[in-house]
Amino acid sequence: MNLQENLKKYAGLILKVGLNIQPGDNLLLRFSVDGLALAREIARQAHALGVHTIYPVFSDDEMTLARFLNAPEAAFSEYPAFFVDFTEAAYKDNYHVLNLSSPNPELLKQVALGRISAWQKVTGKASERLMTYTMGNKVKWCVAALPSPAWAMSVFPGKTEEEAVSALWQKIFEATRVTEQDPVAAWQRHEAELKRHGDFLNDQAFQYLLFQAPGTDLTVYLPKGHVWMGGSSTVERGEAFMPNIPTEEIFSMPHAFKVEGTLAATKPLFTRGRMIEGIRFTFKDGLVVDFDATEGREILADMLDTDEGARRLGEVALVGDDSPISRTGLLFKNTLFDENAACHFALGQAYSECLMGADDMSPEEQQQAGMNKSLIHVDFMVGGPQLDVIGVKEDGSRVHLLKQGNWVV
Ligand code: ZN
Ligand code: ZN
Repeated sequence: MNLQENLKKYAGLILKVGLNIQPGDNLLLRFSVDGLALAREIARQAHALGVHTIYPVFSDDEMTLARFLNAPEAAFSEYPAFFVDFTEAAYKDNYHVLNLSSPNPELLKQVALGRISAWQKVTGKASERLMTYTMGNKVKWCVAALPSPAWAMSVFPGKTEEEAVSALWQKIFEATRVTEQDPVAAWQRHEAELKRHGDFLNDQAFQYLLFQAPGTDLTVYLPKGHVWMGGSSTVERGEAFMPNIPTEEIFSMPHAFKVEGTLAATKPLFTRGRMIEGIRFTFKDGLVVDFDATEGREILADMLDTDEGARRLGEVALVGDDSPISRTGLLFKNTLFDENAACHFALGQAYSECLMGADDMSPEEQQQAGMNKSLIHVDFMVGGPQLDVIGVKEDGSRVHLLKQGNWVV
């Protein structure tokens, strides 16, 4: 099948399953120069589905890099307030967000770390207000990816640029089930499977989980009233949407103050335009009390220093080692894919939808219940063929959930 046909199927999947477009919806469409062909296909199909207006928000890696390298220091201490107001106004006017992401995994390799972390804090702070719309399911949002030449070359260094882009497209189409005859139907089956695992875990209501693998021996308590989620979310006015394409995870909230032991990452982490490899943590009372990395330790240290919540866990996610993304055998160097190929945790902010009644609690009550708060939310992968996960109930009974990386329930 040629690229054009797959692109059409991919655009259709994003609009029908990702955003579940309804007549009268509007779109904030974020993309870069590499996403133009897909953005145009999205526009053709979106309007035919009833979208009134698409507002393009354009970004470009070269321009981003130019700013990080050449702009004065003061540029990184303030975020344009008008842009937050603009986005909030759009959200209130039935605009939903589609992010077509194609990041160069190591774009900011040469940039001084202080600039990256200053900007990270400023954008985190500025977008707190906007996060209540996306994280709180007031608007529909979807992140999907497409290859940029820089990303593709970094994943397939031996190939020519053209070959690399085409190879990465193929992997993205496989990982997102676009290669199946009817991707939308395939996603409905997939969604039902995810919900089944989620329902099972919710019925069990485990008190804590044990993670065991080389370098990992971790006890993770779950808050009372924790909820396992997976697949689609539901927007306030009622329709379902799929925040990430692809998604293979069932996730919940670890107790921010009750995590003990050691944890070793199994894949490098690409974040803030940099790479961190060989991550190891030691937790006590939920807090990272010791850490190391074989590469990029200073980036990790900087990330952990964002705020107190940056040193605690905000997400625990289970993914079978036989997921379609894992079976591609590829390190995508992109968290959207790599986190869906392996069990993972996130440092930082927890999702309130993972705690029953959280939206009606005060911030103090949320914290007391064990919900973590932070300006960051950074996923890192711990899964693989050597990981066992065991659930333990309040009465002490144990259920093996994953054995050698795969679901056994
Ligand atoms: Zn996750
Ligand atoms: Zn996450």
